[in-house]
Amino acid sequence: MTETDDDRHGDATRVVNAGRRPEWTSGIVSPPVWRASTILYESVADLRAATRDTHHKLFYGRRGTPTQWSLADALTSLEPGAEGTFLYCSGVAAIAGALLSVLAPGDEVLMIDNAYDPSRSMATGLLKRFGISTRFYDPMIGAGIAALIGDKTRAILIEAPGSLTFEVPDLPAIIAAAKARGVTTLLDNTWATPLFLPAIAMGIDLSILACTKYIVGHSDAMLGSVTAGPGHFAALRDTAHQLGHIASPDDCWLGSRGLRTMAVRLAHHQQSALKIAHWLKSRPEVARVFHPALPDCPGQAHFLRDFKGSSGLFSFELRGGDEEARAALIDGLALFGIGYSWGGFESLALPVDPQRYRTATTPDFNGPLVRLSIGLEDPADLIADLAAGLERFRAA
Ligand SMILES: *Cc1c(COP(=O)(O)O)cnc(C)c1O
Repeated sequence: MTETDDDRHGDATRVVNAGRRPEWTSGIVSPPVWRASTILYESVADLRAATRDTHHKLFYGRRGTPTQWSLADALTSLEPGAEGTFLYCSGVAAIAGALLSVLAPGDEVLMIDNAYDPSRSMATGLLKRFGISTRFYDPMIGAGIAALIGDKTRAILIEAPGSLTFEVPDLPAIIAAAKARGVTTLLDNTWATPLFLPAIAMGIDLSILACTKYIVGHSDAMLGSVTAGPGHFAALRDTAHQLGHIASPDDCWLGSRGLRTMAVRLAHHQQSALKIAHWLKSRPEVARVFHPALPDCPGQAHFLRDFKGSSGLFSFELRGGDEEARAALIDGLALFGIGYSWGGFESLALPVDPQRYRTATTPDFNGPLVRLSIGLEDPADLIADLAAGLERFRAA
């Protein structure tokens, strides 16, 4: 399939066909798992020749096999305008790989204040140790970010929306300010995926996914990716090679398998999450629902302007109540698991306390927050489960 065909097709068609090049499948529908460390050569001359051009050629296991190349190629093709994708053993490794491909000692990174907590720890730990400073900015800063960009600023890390509180930043305004000063933009695009937010086409330089979530989609593998826009792939790949990054072929195979159904899964996640978010909004126990498509969510207008859809993760604020009442709600849920991560077929509920992770802004929450990852169950069953939970909350 040519790139032009790919761009014309709908999401479900694109994820079904992406990365399934004949030379990697040999007639098998899905690229199989090729496990390797050593690759054997016929002669010294062949070995030397292989060293000269390793791109999409078996060379050594750390440079991947068709199993990894196929998934990377698929993710690149889902981001129109992208130059290439590198895969990592987790989403956090992908964030590190992206940041380290851009930053050097003495540089500064601007990081959105609602960033995924391990991204914050990376900034205040690892990056700081290597002489890279970080300033956190208000997620709703928009064009105001221009005033924060200084001589040392080399990168801006964005999350759209934040994965606890769901503010949707003004991406075009931030991208424009960054471009005007030659600053690289990195977007954690895990929530929307390239299907709902083609980040590279919007002007983002490095689009990061925790593939662990919607790409894998079944809560059974850890995987990350970074897709690079024009001019950014070589540094990304070289940094990854120098750091020894490699995603296992078995996990990449699970990622590829997950990808085939991602469009239909996301459609279901979207529909169910919206239904449940609207239902929660109608309940007296619920003060606000932070879902990018709903008006309580800061940046709803940005969401409506820039995104093609919404996924299954959002949070809500309880009216009054304390830690104990929130636990009563969550502990008794029959269909929602209690655990980290999200994007799998099973629903999850999590108490979230974003106040702990903010430094540039003070979130104005009066009641406790609960985050839901809406899975593929029947939404009516999930609503009944949550209704019983709200009764327990009220009684506590
Ligand atoms: C889970 C997550 C990550 C990290 O992914 P892992 O695969 O768990 O390392 C990064 N960003 C966001 C927004 C996430 O939710």
